[in-house]
Amino acid sequence: MSLSEIKSRIAAEEARTGRAPGSTTLIAVSKLQPLERVEAVLEEGHRVFGENRVQETAGKWPALRERFAGVELHLIGPLQSNKTRQAMALFDAIHTLDRPKLARAIARIADETGHCPRLFVQVNTGEEPQKAGVAPADADAFIAEVRALGLPLEGLMCIPPVDEEPSLHFALLAKIAARNGLAGLSMGMSGDFERAIAQGATHVRVGSAIFGERVYD
Ligand SMILES: *Cc1c(COP(=O)(O)O)cnc(C)c1O
Repeated sequence: MSLSEIKSRIAAEEARTGRAPGSTTLIAVSKLQPLERVEAVLEEGHRVFGENRVQETAGKWPALRERFAGVELHLIGPLQSNKTRQAMALFDAIHTLDRPKLARAIARIADETGHCPRLFVQVNTGEEPQKAGVAPADADAFIAEVRALGLPLEGLMCIPPVDEEPSLHFALLAKIAARNGLAGLSMGMSGDFERAIAQGATHVRVGSAIFGERVYD
């Protein structure tokens, strides 16, 4: 597949479900992709990318940002507290805010630097023990806590269990967002981004369908 094909599938799903054209932001997930594939997508004019590791991003993106203006980077992987400062300097948005300690660290650094990325709270919609995110039952309280710190909370993010129908999880995330007055919904990956758009996704995170299979070494 290719960038243009994914973009036209997004446009088609927006049209089919009555969403406004262009209301879904495509985050091209470039983690573990060879540099030439990332450069090719940048050459095509795409500027919004997702990475899941702070270290990999620090090694790769500062040089690319110098060559390509207007890049927007989204952190979609877990964030360790000791990497908060570095992540806040590298990323325009963080999708994996999932605990009070991290929220307090972000607030402290934002106060100090006067800069804070846009934030998404990760919700563990499947309540999977190995997965990050706040439990659905704890989401409202955590969202209130993040807001009380004055942080720029844009929305919610989820990664559904691999063996369940993702639409149910997308619908649950949309419901939690709606009752908390949050507009952003980061949900949907290569295999299910159309279903996520049908449930109101504002940000889809698509990797392998754009770049091909990731290279693990
Ligand atoms: C890797 C990753 C993606 C992209 O996955 P694909 O199946 O390659 O589209 C999306 N979201 C998160 C959180 C990821 O870690």
